[in-house]
Amino acid sequence: MRVLVVEDEVRLAGTLRDLLEMDGCAVDVCHDGEAGLDNALSGIHDVVLLDVMLPRMDGLTVLRRLRESGSAVPVLMLTARSELSDRVAGLDGGADYYLTKPFEPKELLACVRALARRQPELRGGDALSFGDLRLEKNSFSLVCDGRSVRLSRKEFDMMELLMLNRRQILTKESLLLKIWGYESDAEDNNVEVYISFLRKKLNHLRSRVKIKTIRMVGYCLEGGD
Ligand code: CA
Repeated sequence: MRVLVVEDEVRLAGTLRDLLEMDGCAVDVCHDGEAGLDNALSGIHDVVLLDVMLPRMDGLTVLRRLRESGSAVPVLMLTARSELSDRVAGLDGGADYYLTKPFEPKELLACVRALARRQPELRGGDALSFGDLRLEKNSFSLVCDGRSVRLSRKEFDMMELLMLNRRQILTKESLLLKIWGYESDAEDNNVEVYISFLRKKLNHLRSRVKIKTIRMVGYCLEGGD
């Protein structure tokens, strides 16, 4: 599990990192709202911990922009007790849960785990749809107009990421991290290979959906309407 911590109090951010790492998570830390938003938009995190009062861009704005750009990543807002009125604004803005500082480490870890588990529900149950395509999770297959093809595990993961991040461009870097993992020595080339496998399968299905290459940036789906 990969967690993004956006917290300007350096000491607290460090404590959060230690706690989460001891619990087996990979952790990225940002100390201001702009960097936090950039990182959250990469699409590689399972949960985001987001402080409300942040320099450069406050947490509620980060959250709003994140949801506006189509990200459904679970967000746990961290707020000081004096900022309790922000709760309502935050829930309206698409936060999944709140913790008031100071919090118990155990409570924080339980929240993070619960939010990470909720993600499959946010992903819409057993199938994901885009345009004339359905991605079926039980059978690892891609279905279009009665025709279907089986996908390998990596093809499936890649198609799922593309469908979940339909309104964003996915960089090769984020696909590599999310699918092959941080420790892997896989290269950009692996991403290209699997993208070409998926394109062949989309052709075979005669789907209107295409994987578009954004030169020097990454990939996105088109043909969803
Ligand atoms: Ca703060």
